[in-house]
Amino acid sequence: MKTIKLGMNGACGRMGMRILGLANEDNGFVITHALEHENHPLLGKDIGEVVGFGDIGVKVSNTMDADNIDVLIDFSSPVATTQRVKECAANGIGVVIGTTGLDESQKNMITEESKKTACLLAPNMSIGVNLLFDLIAQVSKTLGKETDIEIIETHHKLKKDAPSGTALKMAETVCENAGLSMKENVIYGRQGQVGERKKNEVGVHAVRLGDTIGIHRIVFDGTDECIEITHDAHSRDAFASGALKAAKFIAQCDPGFYSMADVLKNR
Ligand code: NAD
Repeated sequence: MKTIKLGMNGACGRMGMRILGLANEDNGFVITHALEHENHPLLGKDIGEVVGFGDIGVKVSNTMDADNIDVLIDFSSPVATTQRVKECAANGIGVVIGTTGLDESQKNMITEESKKTACLLAPNMSIGVNLLFDLIAQVSKTLGKETDIEIIETHHKLKKDAPSGTALKMAETVCENAGLSMKENVIYGRQGQVGERKKNEVGVHAVRLGDTIGIHRIVFDGTDECIEITHDAHSRDAFASGALKAAKFIAQCDPGFYSMADVLKNR
């Protein structure tokens, strides 16, 4: 397989730096772009120096040279994501999007742009969480309507969106497989005189604590028995290594819209 020319959008962020650190150790990649917003204080610095693996001759910048990039990985902010996806689609550059908190119109725009280039969107790039989605689908199909379902996510206090993209995808997976509706059955937190728990209610709760990387727990509570499934990310490398697997996958794909399920199928 040819070496992939890799760009990172959100290069100086928590995820960006971990992804670049792992990419630098992987012969399958050469880092060609470290993109940040136009007022970032580290613009012009060598990204290798920023991350801590030594100069590689790639400066933190806000501009992309379309001739020198095969795949862009994006862990930035929803507005930054949509701008870069348009630029990538216009130039046939593959995109792997990890950014969460995208609204419906931003997601629709990405789906539309994926007709021109390969785009992968995943609210969680860890292999474990993507297996968790399969388990949730299985339990929801059999027990979804007979159990009380609650989803509880915990993240660090700097996280900007709530509930997490992963918790929303868990709720979507429950609804799709149990015949429930995101609009009618899912509630976000409880406060005040809310009354008794409604039948087929799916509760989603966001907890923000210290530097927690990401814990997702789902409970299916029946009258006589209860199933709980928890995923606990011990390190950001769980997401970073998944993002690099996704980049290798997307580098070989035709235009289209892909998910981590497609990457897992090809493992
Ligand atoms: P962070 O705040 O540490 O990093 C975001 C980076 O994006 C910052 O360096 C910021 O300066 C940069 N940025 C902002 N605007 C930009 C622009 N216009 N152009 C380029 N860069 C820009 O956040 P983080 O913890 O690295 O998370 C980033 C995103 O990824 C969040 O949406 C988070 O929820 C998501 N996330 C997804 C996964 C997953 O597996 N899919 C895992 C962890 C985090």
